[in-house]
Formats: sequence, structure tokens, C-alpha cells
Amino acid sequence: MMNGTLKGRSAVVTGSTSGIGLGIARALAAAGANVMLNGLGEAREIETIRAEIEGLHDVKVRYSSADMSQAAQVRDMIGQAEAEFGAVDILVNNAGIQFVSPVESFPEEKWDAILAINLSSNFHSIRAALPGMRRRNWGRIINVASAHGLVASPFKSAYVAAKHGVVGLTKAVALEAAESSVTCNAICPAYVRTPLVEDQIRDQARAHGMSEEDVVREVMLAAQPNKRFVEIDELGELAVFLCSPAASSITGVALPVDGGWTAK
Ligand code: NAD
Repeated sequence: MMNGTLKGRSAVVTGSTSGIGLGIARALAAAGANVMLNGLGEAREIETIRAEIEGLHDVKVRYSSADMSQAAQVRDMIGQAEAEFGAVDILVNNAGIQFVSPVESFPEEKWDAILAINLSSNFHSIRAALPGMRRRNWGRIINVASAHGLVASPFKSAYVAAKHGVVGLTKAVALEAAESSVTCNAICPAYVRTPLVEDQIRDQARAHGMSEEDVVREVMLAAQPNKRFVEIDELGELAVFLCSPAASSITGVALPVDGGWTAK
């Protein structure tokens, strides 16, 4: 639908070997952008995905194995993309992990990992990519936060804290970069059916002592008025829109994509 609108632009999408990040990477490539994939996974499977996206669209697709919990690797990934493509015009901070536990017994190492991967990696990538965006006087930063960047749920203290942090970081960067035609926005989805959610269904079933079916209906989608999971394609198209000229004045927002959850 938006083919070619991002021709000549280059993007980095963190955590794009699966789920939402992969969907956004596919949508940006379909719109004409070169894409640097990133994330964990088996090398052969990642190469299959990389080659498939590159084959479908007339764009370069590369892969960085940078670990988003390591600041130096985040910085190097941005440098690698600038070297490969000549620029990083679009930065999508999407890599994320989840862990569900009451706060009193929340493992310290899980807190540290969630803060590092879900929040600090956004700081390190923005810090590395923003100077080039300013030089070229154009940039789009999209942080995949969550409805949990706006409201809380029990047993997700680290995730909720990190995602609220992402929303705050988004606003601060938007203000600092506004005069350079660089926008910075957060996308705040409710539940999207991805591997991360599949894991949560299992974890929540254990935490609540419920069946997985009951967790979906009575826990996960209890707060979601439209009673359906968000589709990955909806987020891909939204990312392409936020990169389009029509979205030039949209910056510093935390946009709920949640079927009405946070309207209540
Ligand atoms: P996913 O598990 O399918 O994908 C997560 C991606 O992050 C994978 O590519 C994984 O390899 C990568 N990743 C994890 N740790 C990494 C690390 N240390 N270094 C580099 N990459 C790493 O999950 P998803 O559901 O697609 O989630 C993507 C983002 O969307 C996350 O930030 C998540 O918090 C957010 N989100 C998800 C939902 C949902 O319902 N799925 C809702 C709101 C927000």
C-alpha cells in the first residue's frame, strides 16, 4: 500500500528476528527502506529471513547480532548500519523481554536484564544514531513501548517501570531533537499475539493457577475492550506512517494501540 514511500531511507530495527520487530522490519522494507535486522536466534533461520525480505523488495537487508543488554554492542550496531547504508534515518527500538513475578520475589538479575534490554538499549541506540540524523536534518525514532508504558498490571514491576521509562525518554528526546526534523514517538500496544505473549500465557497460568484459555479471556484480554489481540501488521503500517511526511509534526507522543484499554 505504501510501497516506495521510504525509498533511499535506511532503518535499524532492534529485536527484529521475531514478532513485532520482524513485522515492522518487513513493513519498512516493503515501503522501500534498507533494513538492519537485529536479535537473537539461530544463524541459518535469521539468514533465511534476511534473504527473503531482501528478495521481496529492492532494498538492502543486513543483520547485526548485537546484544541489546551491552551498551558497546548497541553503539557498534548503529556504526555498522551507518557504514553499510551510509546513514541511519529510522531507528526502531523494539527489542524486549518480559518476566512475571510478585515484586518481593522478583529476581534481581531479571530486573537488571529487563531495564537494560527494554529501556537502556533505547538510550544507547538513540545516543549513537541522533548525531547523524541531526547532520542530515531528518530522522524518525520509534520506540516500541507498551500499554504498560501508560498503565500498570500486577507482577510486572520491571517491565512496567522500563516501559514507563521508555515513554519518558521518548518525550525528552522529542523535545531535544524537534528543531532538527527528527521525530521521536512511542507505540504502546496492548497484547499482540507473538512468541513473547505465548510465554506470558504460560507464566500467568502458573502465577494465577488458571488454565491457559482462562488466562487469555479473563486475564490478558480482560482490560481490552475490543477483546482481540493486536495484529503485527497494524504495527508495521503504523511505523511506516510515522516515517511518512504526513507524520512530520507528530513527536513526543505515546500512542496507544490497544483497542481502548487505556481509555478506561
Ligand atoms: P518477541 O519475543 O517475539 O521478540 C523480541 C525480539 O527481541 C526478538 O527478536 C529477540 O531476539 C529480541 N531480543 C531479546 N533479547 C535481546 C537482546 N538481549 N539483544 C537483542 N535482541 C534481543 O517479542 P514481541 O512480542 O515481538 O515484543 C517486541 C516488543 O514489543 C518488546 O519491546 C515488547 O515489550 C513490546 N510489546 C509486546 C507486546 C505483545 O503483546 N507482544 C505488547 C506491547 C509491547
